[in-house]
Amino acid sequence: MLPHRPPGLYTRVMTPSPELFTDPIARPAAAAPAAHVAVIGAGPAGLMAADRLIAQGHRVSVFEKMPSPARKFLMAGRGGLNITHSEPLEHFLSRYGEIAPLLDGAIRAFPPDAVRGFAAELGETTFIGSSGRVFPDSFKASPLLRAWLRRLGTLGVELHTRHEWRGWAPTGALMFETPEGAKEIVADATLLALGGASWPRLGGDGGWTQHLAPRGIALAPFVPANMGLEVDWSVPFRDRFAGEPLKRIALSCAGAGPVRGEAVVTARGLEGGAVYALSRAVRDRLAAEGEAQLRLDLRPDFDQALITRRLATGPLKQSLSNRLRKAVGLSPVAVGLLREAAGVALPTDPAALARLIKAAPIQVRAVAGLERAISSAGGIAFDALDDHFMLRVVPGTFACGEMLDWEAPTGGYLLQACFATGRAAAEGISAFLAARATP
Ligand SMILES: Cc1cc2nc3c(=O)[nH]c(=O)nc-3n(C[C@H](O)[C@H](O)[C@H](O)COP(=O)(O)OP(=O)(O)OC[C@H]3O[C@@H](n4cnc5c(N)ncnc54)[C@H](O)[C@@H]3O)c2cc1C
Repeated sequence: MLPHRPPGLYTRVMTPSPELFTDPIARPAAAAPAAHVAVIGAGPAGLMAADRLIAQGHRVSVFEKMPSPARKFLMAGRGGLNITHSEPLEHFLSRYGEIAPLLDGAIRAFPPDAVRGFAAELGETTFIGSSGRVFPDSFKASPLLRAWLRRLGTLGVELHTRHEWRGWAPTGALMFETPEGAKEIVADATLLALGGASWPRLGGDGGWTQHLAPRGIALAPFVPANMGLEVDWSVPFRDRFAGEPLKRIALSCAGAGPVRGEAVVTARGLEGGAVYALSRAVRDRLAAEGEAQLRLDLRPDFDQALITRRLATGPLKQSLSNRLRKAVGLSPVAVGLLREAAGVALPTDPAALARLIKAAPIQVRAVAGLERAISSAGGIAFDALDDHFMLRVVPGTFACGEMLDWEAPTGGYLLQACFATGRAAAEGISAFLAARATP
């Protein structure tokens, strides 16, 4: 038993009742029901694993360094919690790029429909937005998280907040730093679900790499993913337009794109869906070439010839800004952006102006850092894991979620992979414990 359990969300500790095991595959192996599993990290990946492990009859303790669980998950719900995507599975899997084959098994075993079913079980039915993204009806993370924590607590999962994992003791015990001082915990199996390195103030800061690197576990350096882009705006443009949306635009960069969508001008550069979708290409271009230029198509629905004609036939007495607004429908921020791109005065020739509207060049200074990126790439290399998400060099220790080295665009692909790898790692742990218990 754990020496200490602080007052927290889970005050009841119960043994799971047999009727929970309605799925015959989920019925625990007779030899392993009392094994103790330590799940470290109470984000969506760790909680999903805890959910599966308790249903399989193990004793489950979740350790979380922050005062409350799943802070990044709650933050993800701020602008609408996009839990997965409804597109066909083959297409869905391709979003993980070169890592797709390594996530394939986990996602097929717990696909988008299963995520929707899981949310519905927790009382949060989902809907498909116009872009195919899937959201809970409430649009938020908090009702889902509340119901989930209630269920885990009722099933007997223990949550220990303010427990920061500090690696392994020479005996192999898990070491934690807590408000009551250092503690050592012995578990039959451990799941690391410590998150990536973006938004470190929410808990996941990648500090765990210092405990894994000395064990010879291959780690890829963290880099931001799905992040904003930094642009040196002129002071007048920045002061006038920071916060303004650029609607229905298309972005491209050195052969990547065009990506249609929206962006928002910020004091530091550009944020928003279309920007995040292109950010990987921009990041890689900056790393390879030391420079990256965006091309903004401010009217993707009009071709260049049409824009030229409209500009050429509009009343010539109007100011250029008025002509751009009336003839082509450009907002003041879009006109401002054209001026930023032109550097000097805007061309008056309709054909040259149309060319600029279709491909306004914007120099990117840098990509936003990890502290504001939606996710991170880097972390535990898949080579360091076996097919069941167990660390090859630390038998009995598994890993899942964003701490693994994969990346995907926004659109529900991040949470889907966290849920699916959490679930797959839980299956791996059950198989490991069952094998160990078999004489
Ligand atoms: C603003 C924002 C919006 C987002 N929106 C979406 C979205 O709509 N859809 C989507 O799919 N994804 C979204 N994401 C991404 C998604 O939230 C993450 O991919 C997901 O939370 C990662 O889950 P995880 O469980 O792997 O890690 P985390 O959620 O980071 O959880 C890891 C946990 O481990 C804890 N921990 C770390 N180190 C230790 C330690 N040493 N000891 C103990 N505990 C530790 C952390 O405190 C944390 O609670 C968004 C992210 C952000 C920041």
